[in-house]
Amino acid sequence: MAGTALVVGAGIGGLSAAIGLRRMGWRVTVLERAPAFRPAGAGLVLQANGLRCLDVLGLGAAVREQGKADVSGGTRRSDGRWLARIEAGELERVLGTPAIGIHRAALHEMLLGALPDGVVVTGAPVVAVTAGGEVTYQHEGGQVRTRADLVVGADGIHSTVRRLLWPGAAAPVRIGVTAWRGVTPVWDRDVVVAITWDRGAEFGMVPLVDGRVYWFAAANATGESTGDEQELLRTRFGGWHDPIPALIAATSTVLRDDLACLDEPLTTYVKGNVVLVGDAAHAMTPNLGQGANQALEDAVVLASVAGRPDGLAVYDRQRRPRSQHVAKASRAIGRFGQQLQNPIAVAVRNTAMRLTPPRLALRSMARYADWRPPPLT
Ligand SMILES: Cc1cc2nc3c(=O)[nH]c(=O)nc-3n(C[C@H](O)[C@H](O)[C@H](O)COP(=O)(O)OP(=O)(O)OC[C@H]3O[C@@H](n4cnc5c(N)ncnc54)[C@H](O)[C@@H]3O)c2cc1C
Repeated sequence: MAGTALVVGAGIGGLSAAIGLRRMGWRVTVLERAPAFRPAGAGLVLQANGLRCLDVLGLGAAVREQGKADVSGGTRRSDGRWLARIEAGELERVLGTPAIGIHRAALHEMLLGALPDGVVVTGAPVVAVTAGGEVTYQHEGGQVRTRADLVVGADGIHSTVRRLLWPGAAAPVRIGVTAWRGVTPVWDRDVVVAITWDRGAEFGMVPLVDGRVYWFAAANATGESTGDEQELLRTRFGGWHDPIPALIAATSTVLRDDLACLDEPLTTYVKGNVVLVGDAAHAMTPNLGQGANQALEDAVVLASVAGRPDGLAVYDRQRRPRSQHVAKASRAIGRFGQQLQNPIAVAVRNTAMRLTPPRLALRSMARYADWRPPPLT
């Protein structure tokens, strides 16, 4: 039976959980640490599984309008030679829906817009939580104590909820890789959705619907930031094929992250009335582009079962194996792709990729995205 729910964190996981729970009759409040939302972040790739979840949440059509789909792409070497190619429409043919590139801020705004005023409380960092559903948060100079029938820990990779209620769980670990993300101004040359691999580094580009281009880069062991990310990127990627140097040069704001993930999978996502979703439950490396897509899966599955007497146990049984399997695969792809440093291993990998029949390559790409959410009725 639906009751009251407190969601900790208004990221993609928390907002989509709030939308789903409300659709199932829950009275929901979202507590967000940040004092206000700024149009932050770069881009994101939403895959078939995430898009299908957005369909169930009633946002699929609007999100598709804000996303660029149906572009050809593949994997290249840093000299531009293709290792694997996918024609426009192929992924859609296999999965029934394309993958789309979208600006993270546009997705966040749409999720936020699907919730009535007052549901999301900003400037409200949660500082304490019990398995019984009591939550304490700071707000407007004081502390507020409240309780709910269900508490959803959607507070990201460095989750306070996980730290407080899963004291034995290992903290996220850095994997020795730095990632950069940027969005260019409107770009008037053709761009394909492509990823380029070289020894210990990668660069990816995704056209956005408004003509801008989202790009991401990653490299092994770059050390601490010198403060000039553009200079670092020019040194590392300046000799790579077109239009990589030009995309970097055209970007004014570059975001930098030292990548981390939850290396030791949690043994449960549930403690009493408290449940974890998204990065709080299974922070993964971005190599499969599945972190946000998995958060959307969590949200819809949680909303579909939370009102049942055994709902949280069902959520745990359904979500833990799949999300942890995807996280493990993402880490493995990172080691095989971006992180591979040894020149002989790189040459063997590249040959294997060139020799893989396109149909097989497509199947393995589609494997993790080929998931269908339950209905919310
Ligand atoms: C370089 C890079 C590229 C990526 N590319 C993709 C991609 O293409 N596709 C994809 O699916 N995923 C991608 N991801 C992963 C994706 O960004 C994350 O998995 C996703 O954003 C996680 O969402 P979340 O809601 O769980 O957490 P978050 O987005 O981290 O949101 C957590 C929220 O909780 C709030 N919060 C934290 N602590 C508290 C507290 N104590 N009290 C209240 N609020 C709190 C935070 O302010 C934040 O708003 C990428 C990640 C990286 C690093």
